[in-house]
Amino acid sequence: MNITVIGTGYVGLVSGTCFAETGNNVTCVDIDKVKVEKMRNGEVPIYEPGLKPLFDRNIKEDRLRFTTNLESAVATANVIFLCLPTPPGADGQADLSAVLFVAEQLGTMLTDYKVIVNKSTVPVGTADLVSEKIALNATVDFDVVSNPEFLREGAAIDDFLKPDRVVVGSSSEKATGIMEDLYSPFVRSGNPVIIMDERSSELTKYAANALLATKITFMNEIANICEGVGADVENVRRGIGTDSRIGKRFLFAGIGYGGSCFPKDVQAIKYTAQNVGYDFKILDSVIKVNEAQKVSMVPKIEEVFGSDLRGKVFGIWGLAFKPETDDVREAPALYLMHELAIRGATFKAYDPEAMKTFKNAASDLVNDNTAYVNTSTEAVLNTDALIIATEWAEFRGKDIENFNVLMNKPVIFDGRNLYDTQKAQKAGLTYISVGRKQMIQQELSYACG
Ligand code: NAD
Repeated sequence: MNITVIGTGYVGLVSGTCFAETGNNVTCVDIDKVKVEKMRNGEVPIYEPGLKPLFDRNIKEDRLRFTTNLESAVATANVIFLCLPTPPGADGQADLSAVLFVAEQLGTMLTDYKVIVNKSTVPVGTADLVSEKIALNATVDFDVVSNPEFLREGAAIDDFLKPDRVVVGSSSEKATGIMEDLYSPFVRSGNPVIIMDERSSELTKYAANALLATKITFMNEIANICEGVGADVENVRRGIGTDSRIGKRFLFAGIGYGGSCFPKDVQAIKYTAQNVGYDFKILDSVIKVNEAQKVSMVPKIEEVFGSDLRGKVFGIWGLAFKPETDDVREAPALYLMHELAIRGATFKAYDPEAMKTFKNAASDLVNDNTAYVNTSTEAVLNTDALIIATEWAEFRGKDIENFNVLMNKPVIFDGRNLYDTQKAQKAGLTYISVGRKQMIQQELSYACG
């Protein structure tokens, strides 16, 4: 099939590359000329594990091309995927301007029947809206399909090639048949392509993300209680995760969820509910709790160092919103470092992939007070404390016994519970984590009351 993918971000580039990998001819369109030029020169503009070899192979086989010319890319396509940004507007409503702008142009460009697929996360009713926009100028038949994407950054290739399920929202038999053909190579092991109406499909995506954000947040609240009552959230997690009704995943306590999806999607579904006169109360709490959780290390840091952090240097491990990505949108580190910088702290920051994107997204205050360093060891050297904000695998295996030598005093604030508390205590560390016993060494205990 000839596929055109409009928007080559995390979703568009992964989708386009994976469709090419299964033998389709794929043209990727983006308005960002610099990005398109980079891709034409063989450069992958994002960090996503496993993407580069597939990208290289499909360019070499001439199944994957890049352009800024929408009209030429549309002319040859059988199926057109919209993988455009839908960021939150000021009121939390999804901003559909990119999607509708492209839809209006498409109407003038269709010369024969095409399936237009909305892969962006969009509010209920957007398939109808896109249809109306296209119909304003179209003179031929077309179908608009909702096909929300469930890939996770950091595992996007695997998720796309082996999805748990594919959701297709369409009332057209012809379009549904084309979508089933297109996805058949990805569901050979028997995972379903679930066909439904457009509105249910659009809502499915928001319901999934809102539920996952709620699960994380619930566990963070349990962690906060654990700290009060002297329980260990890791034990509680194991105790409940083995219940098949609950499941093991998304139960890790930490310093809050971030990323380009959960925060905006929770806001957007709340807005959708409000539009139909329904007050989605749980999600109000999820949003509030998560905002507080992102900076929940601040009072713990103040307990040890006081609220005036001038002259204190903090090592920071992990800037991306999660491991295995360079995406820093809504990353907890952005918020935490800003709060600490307000109190006078300075930083030595390290992330395996996200230093460039973080520098671009961080506040001036954070950038002015941060040295971005090249190794995780450099980031702890001669610091007063280390803060762990993202659970990259390379941090787990670190020799924490050595921190006594590297740091002014070995203090770790671990927002991702990477280490065993007993081991940290034996190594002589003050080790403060989330929802577990705080291990405070004698010489620091005076500061903690
Ligand atoms: P992104 O910001 O990484 O990429 C969007 C791309 O679209 C950019 O390259 C941008 O230059 C391009 N673009 C913007 N306007 C354009 C136009 N008029 N014509 C052509 N290109 C244009 O976004 P993303 O993270 O890939 O997300 C895209 C959509 O998919 C969003 O709705 C998001 O909620 C959803 N989604 C994202 C993820 C994820 O993990 N990132 C997962 C599932 C769903």
